[in-house]
Amino acid sequence: MQQLSDPMAAIMDKLKAKSQAFSETTVAIEEPEYNCPRCKDTGSYLVRKKNGYFIRGVEVEQDYYVECECSKMLKTNRLIKSSAITEEFQKMSFKNFSTDGVHPKVIEMKSKANQYYTAFDEVRGFRQNSIMLIGQPGCGKTHLLTAISNYLIHAKQVPVLYFPYKDGMNNLAANNFERKNEIMDRMKEIDVLFIDDLFKPIGGKVDVKAWQAESIFEVVNYRYLNNKPLLISSELSLDDMLYIDEALTSRLFEMAQDFTVTIPKDMKVNYRLRKVFENR
Ligand SMILES: [Zn+2]
Repeated sequence: MQQLSDPMAAIMDKLKAKSQAFSETTVAIEEPEYNCPRCKDTGSYLVRKKNGYFIRGVEVEQDYYVECECSKMLKTNRLIKSSAITEEFQKMSFKNFSTDGVHPKVIEMKSKANQYYTAFDEVRGFRQNSIMLIGQPGCGKTHLLTAISNYLIHAKQVPVLYFPYKDGMNNLAANNFERKNEIMDRMKEIDVLFIDDLFKPIGGKVDVKAWQAESIFEVVNYRYLNNKPLLISSELSLDDMLYIDEALTSRLFEMAQDFTVTIPKDMKVNYRLRKVFENR
């Protein structure tokens, strides 16, 4: 009996020890933990760097605060949320913009968009700081400008606001005076404003109400005077835009003169219809 109980006791001891260890880990998990152990949720951490000074032949090291990746991610997430860019549009990049078999003008448009993004830091503070892609609907203008917006937010943490012209105008009309001013102020002050489908025709007809023209002019003129970049798409030609609003269009053209591409109206350019033509 004695011989049997000893191993039994040993097993019991082992089990006890195990359960104690388990409860200890449980306690450890319950202790307050940081979302980001690296910076302990402060948003920055110290790194020791050599600073190029030597004392008696030994390079001096100094502590520097660097912004933690978690802080950058948080900022990016906030910017995505406030940009009004939908989940579907957040996927748009230069990489997933296919140029197989498209009109040469569409290839030029993509390369212009790329150039604009590359030049952004240099041009953003100047009058000529914007990009305008106009003409043929459905050839990927929105895709490319959305891609630029996404890169600006993710890689440079630049605040961007997406303003789809038709829905945005309906939204302005549905709001009271105070709220309308609030939205317009945001459109004026945001670092980058993306106006998608400016003067979008409805049922093939361009119908711009006086208050709509005034509102959009107020925003564009403010941004023109304060050197704030615009990303503009429109399916109208420059001539049509000039006819609708000369003052507005001439400002847009001045701001985007280095980065304007007009896609000719030609069914085969149509990005959405390309598949149909390929199958013929
Ligand atoms: Zn962190």
